[in-house]
Amino acid sequence: MQNNNRITKAEGLRLFKKADILELGRMSDEIRNRLHPECIVTFIVDRNINYTNVCINRCLFCAFWRDENDPEAYILRKDELFSKTEETIQLGGTQILIQGGLNPKLNLDYYTNLLKELKSRFDINVHGFSPPEICYIADRSDLTIRETLKILKDAGLDSIPGGGAEILSDRVKEVISPRKIKSGRWLKVMEEAHKLGMKTTATMMFGSIEEAGDIIEHLTAVRNLQDKTGGFTAFIPWSFQPGNTALAKGSNPPLPPFTKGGSGGIYKLHPATAVEYLRILALSRIYLDNIKNIQASWVTQGLKLAQVALRFGANDFGSTMIEENVVASTGVRYKVSKEDIINAIKHTGFKPAQRNTYYEIIRYF
Ligand code: SF4
Repeated sequence: MQNNNRITKAEGLRLFKKADILELGRMSDEIRNRLHPECIVTFIVDRNINYTNVCINRCLFCAFWRDENDPEAYILRKDELFSKTEETIQLGGTQILIQGGLNPKLNLDYYTNLLKELKSRFDINVHGFSPPEICYIADRSDLTIRETLKILKDAGLDSIPGGGAEILSDRVKEVISPRKIKSGRWLKVMEEAHKLGMKTTATMMFGSIEEAGDIIEHLTAVRNLQDKTGGFTAFIPWSFQPGNTALAKGSNPPLPPFTKGGSGGIYKLHPATAVEYLRILALSRIYLDNIKNIQASWVTQGLKLAQVALRFGANDFGSTMIEENVVASTGVRYKVSKEDIINAIKHTGFKPAQRNTYYEIIRYF
């Protein structure tokens, strides 16, 4: 689905910085309408299951992680994980999204046994383990990324979420997540997964310290890989939520010496406004001419702005999120039911439909 009139980096930058917001909306809505002329807006019924919050990466933008000895540290018991999966199926869910921190107590066997047990008990798509988790498992097991993915796939892993990308610009990563894998490894995991026939999503977290050029760098990297593999089902841009994060507080853990959090620091945090969110969403729709689906993020923007997003390039409402913990740990928690999502889509004039992981429609509403 690549467009011959593909926009260049320079054009993307110009659009991002200079274009009128309503003009961006019109352009992205036209593309959305060309790709999805049936005026359907999809969503998936699923649940995020975070199997552990212990994480050695301690990213500065993340409020979810805990140290191993923290009283709030946990590894989810398997029976809890299974009952959450059971409940998801009872609520009409077709997917569980399993993600967690990089916990030194968990080894490759933990992951493969978990996947095998899940698949033997339930008929559900397991969308799990974003690239930082895959790399951590690979490094600790002395395996290549490809070998690790193959083992996890054979154990039952179906598809991979695009988390952990944040901004695919190492300049930014060095500040907001210095211990996390760099852009090259994130892209490598996705490329190898696609080559093994696994579908993945791509995400982008903006609104921290990045500049416009970093956003273009991110979109270009995703577009180039999609040209090569075609394995991304969707792109999900969402904005950094500063609540309870070290990046906003400038404390615990200490920031690297070249940065300083809070006000008066060397870098400047600029959390995205609603208009900036819409600009980036529209730009993503225009720039990523080879990715069919763009998700609106009601989890970070709320249902009302997610409705507006449907006229700024988005054609998918993401997940009903029976459970969500990572964004909620920043203090941002929108209470939204499946019916709320269906009504929100209907009120914008689109037809709501439940889909599966692969964007196949299961049911219209
Ligand atoms: S964003 Fe992920 S890798 Fe970073 S600290 Fe949080 S859980 Fe760990």
